[in-house]
Amino acid sequence: MTQIKSIGILGGGQLGKMFLQKALDFNLDFFVLDPDPECSCKAICNNLTTGSFKDYNTVYNFGKQVDLITIEIEHVNIEALEQLEKEGKKVFPQPAVLRMIQDKGLQKEFYTAHNIPTPPYVLVNSKEEIYKHSSLFPVMQKMRKGGYDGKGVKPLKNEADIKDAFNEASVLESFADIAMEISVIVARNLSGEIKTFPVVEMVFNPEVNLVDNLLSPARISTETEKYAEEIAVKIAEKLGIVGVLAVEMFITKKGEILVNEMAPRPHNSGHHSIEANITSQYEQHLRAIMNWPLGDTSIVKPALMLNLLGHKDYSGKAIVTGLSEALKVSGVKPHWYGKEITKPFRKMGHITITGNSIEEVLEKAEKIRNTIKVIA
Ligand code: ADP
Repeated sequence: MTQIKSIGILGGGQLGKMFLQKALDFNLDFFVLDPDPECSCKAICNNLTTGSFKDYNTVYNFGKQVDLITIEIEHVNIEALEQLEKEGKKVFPQPAVLRMIQDKGLQKEFYTAHNIPTPPYVLVNSKEEIYKHSSLFPVMQKMRKGGYDGKGVKPLKNEADIKDAFNEASVLESFADIAMEISVIVARNLSGEIKTFPVVEMVFNPEVNLVDNLLSPARISTETEKYAEEIAVKIAEKLGIVGVLAVEMFITKKGEILVNEMAPRPHNSGHHSIEANITSQYEQHLRAIMNWPLGDTSIVKPALMLNLLGHKDYSGKAIVTGLSEALKVSGVKPHWYGKEITKPFRKMGHITITGNSIEEVLEKAEKIRNTIKVIA
């Protein structure tokens, strides 16, 4: 087997940057492809190619020069990755897994086929077709392709809402009566070893459908935790994925667990693992794609991860205020993504806050939240 010396990453955003920060410890060569020459990875990657990861030729030519290709975003050109795989290149996660996950309709069919609990749904091809299903209302309409961070998701409460619906192939999903949103990050290497991270609790900002903060460990029973982890392991097994996979789930008010969606890469819900777990999700992804033994995911300290979003009233060159004040609090670790321009609710960075208990990190987070701001 040829030794892997170089890794190409499709996408140069913050997930790619945090992956590189860890991966650089392992003495491999890294190449990044991103359309933005000023992307987050620029600060630490000498081999940055500017180009579209959605374009066949660009991805194919980029992939040819490296031993192994991975991603930090799933909306990439799959045909090029399939061709590279056919030519013997290692592509992890595998193109077939990406093809399925790129499409929320196929994801739902996968859950159904494998008896994985998920909210009931129907698939539609256009806005017109939604009228036929108004008996299912209220529903969440989710575009099958291209959505992220709440874009491409719309609640439809009644027939009158259909006029504002997406006119796209989409999933209509029953409303879940959500008590808590959780995420389980699971990793699988080529040899089939599988490990999960302890369950995290995600708190959303309802205004923008983005994670506001997350808590590790989640405040759930051991039984629920075990069940959520079992679901994530089953998904990783059935997919046969190589790499990390984030599985987002709902715990309903009745106590059921339903899978919402999955992301085949390091994820926002695993940022805290850099400081708060023995092995971070980024290191785990590297271990998985290199087919190394997976690392211990145990919690070192309880943590809260606060997303730093651009202030809603500012657009332009980003200025961070309150940083030195925030740094006075013990266990506060900021991560800036290196984005020059802020926009309302743009993910500009995050702060991990560790402490001796969940109560302690919640208390510290309240202080920090009102201290740090990203304005222009
Ligand atoms: P994205 O892929 O853009 O992150 P999601 O499918 O995760 O979109 O939906 C974003 C958010 O919308 C979820 O985190 C949840 O808060 C809410 N949501 C999604 N589906 C449902 C549902 N079936 N019932 C209730 N709320 C939902």
